[in-house]
Amino acid sequence: MQAPSLQEMLVNFHQELIRITVKEDAVSFSTPDQAIFRQAQEKALPLVNICPPQVKAEDFFAVMTQVAGIIKHFMPDLAAETEQIESALPVDPAEREEFVTGALTPGVDLLSDLKTDLPPETFDFLLNHTIKPFMSQYAVNASKYFDPEMWLKGNCPVCGGKPTLALLEKEKGRRYLYCDLCEVQWRFNRLGCPYCTSNESHFFTCEGMEKYRVYYCDKCHGYIKTIDGAKTGESQPNLFWEDINTIQLDILAMREGYINQAYPQEPEI
Ligand SMILES: [Zn+2]
Ligand SMILES: [Zn+2]
Repeated sequence: MQAPSLQEMLVNFHQELIRITVKEDAVSFSTPDQAIFRQAQEKALPLVNICPPQVKAEDFFAVMTQVAGIIKHFMPDLAAETEQIESALPVDPAEREEFVTGALTPGVDLLSDLKTDLPPETFDFLLNHTIKPFMSQYAVNASKYFDPEMWLKGNCPVCGGKPTLALLEKEKGRRYLYCDLCEVQWRFNRLGCPYCTSNESHFFTCEGMEKYRVYYCDKCHGYIKTIDGAKTGESQPNLFWEDINTIQLDILAMREGYINQAYPQEPEI
């Protein structure tokens, strides 16, 4: 039997991961005070900084165990590192709560808190896939607190993260960016790099994949895969799967020296 390609393996891996869902009430947040909310919006702070998501430690660690199991199954090369990480996770209830709060707060370096040497890329990989179902539920629960048409920033309005994919709308040619952590899409300028302030826009296409463009930036060396809505025939493509099904374009862009700005360091798989 032929070994599955990287693309097939990723599809199988993600098909298993998306079965992990969390209940609507697994993520809560405090209603933001109106004045603070308005101020934060003027400063373009993402929702995580205004009304952070709260998740029970037991729910979070239950999902983490499931994600770890899926990684070990589909990516045996990462199994030993994943086990090493699992055995270093906190067991004390207070420490577990602190860990979860840190995991849901952008910029917190959880790894250095664990006081043991762990492989950082695999740690982030496990953590991101654990956070994801909670963040996408949070984005749904908090949807009335952001307007995807009005945000117009290069960062996700929910988590503040960088987009992984863009969509050029068919009718009016508007551009939307997509965050694969929160599964949120929001409007952005039609041209210019979403990762830095450069207004330049260059793209390449790949033979046989004409519905995609890869925009790249020579200032920050970022790139963003973009679906050309005029060529897809669908008005609402599934951006989650589009991202996974176009790994070939990531490989091409990285071979040309461009960087995945959303995930600068992914484990080698
Ligand atoms: Zn996000
Ligand atoms: Zn740039």
